[in-house]
Amino acid sequence: MATDRDRELEALRPQHEGRVMDLVEAAGVDVSQWAFRKDGSPVQNPAANPNYCYEWAFGGNGEPNLLCVWHRSMSVSDGLIVYEDCIRDLALKLDRVAIDRTNPAHVKSRARDQAKRARGFDSLLQRAFRRSEPVRIIVLQGEQRAAVEVGWETATVRFRRLDDVEWYVHAYDDDGSFRIVRGVPRADNAEATEADDEGTSPDVDENDSAPEPPPVPYLDQFSIPDAPERRENTGTSFNRSAEVRRATLARAAGVCEFCGCAGFKTASGGVYLETHHVVPLAEDGPDVEWNVVAICPNDHRRAHHGEDRDILFDSLTAALINRYPQAREILETLRTRRATQGVT
Ligand SMILES: [Zn+2]
Ligand SMILES: [Zn+2]
Repeated sequence: MATDRDRELEALRPQHEGRVMDLVEAAGVDVSQWAFRKDGSPVQNPAANPNYCYEWAFGGNGEPNLLCVWHRSMSVSDGLIVYEDCIRDLALKLDRVAIDRTNPAHVKSRARDQAKRARGFDSLLQRAFRRSEPVRIIVLQGEQRAAVEVGWETATVRFRRLDDVEWYVHAYDDDGSFRIVRGVPRADNAEATEADDEGTSPDVDENDSAPEPPPVPYLDQFSIPDAPERRENTGTSFNRSAEVRRATLARAAGVCEFCGCAGFKTASGGVYLETHHVVPLAEDGPDVEWNVVAICPNDHRRAHHGEDRDILFDSLTAALINRYPQAREILETLRTRRATQGVT
């Protein structure tokens, strides 16, 4: 028997072909950049700008948090309309598609793009949870891809609508699974007081503690404008996520993740280590935290050129598997492939 909530959920089903850009704008997120390409040149049809219109998450960082969610993923649970999922798992599935050399190039490249979108979705949700911020939802209706064919087919969206009601992240677990609830703020804000990784308004409530020292800026080769070693030795320039580098440097906290020595202090007062993709981007290594380490410049060169670079590779992969057990399978696949094909 359908309850009022069931009917409410049914009424949320989109019936019209809303354009993403219009809905994003209606949610209060700035869309002025949609009119431009990455190089700054104007695009003919901003609403179809591929840099934006396929994204799964918009806004955040001062703007409203906005996520695209399939209507069929929503359900009624305990009398509430909820969306429960683990987008981090989806990102890993997409990574697997992206590194599978039996897949055609366009499938791999689409999977890579989608994995990036999935991670954007996940980090926006995570931040909203930590900051107890509401989330707006663009509800999608159409052909959703099944998990088995992840990365193969682009899902076809038929209808979209912007939900007028705000949603709230009630749970975000360590493994990345979450629960967001329509229209009901999280009752208990206890978790929201945990330190925010981006240092916005820490809300110091322990009156006995001394003021926190300013955070040490952790720098890598890409933080220094004219550093000669801004590229890996692939000869090709790849896009690297600044967020991944930042998270990796924060994880290492100024200590080389291979040898354990402290990074040197820079003239500007930061601590310097270099970020390194353990499985190179050129070998389909994903640009994600579980494939990036922060190591001292000496070990970095050694990882690329040392006679013992295979030992460094094995040691760094083992450390990453240990730290990110959910990435074990994919890292082991990449490691085995490397061992059998040899390093170039
Ligand atoms: Zn080192
Ligand atoms: Zn490197």
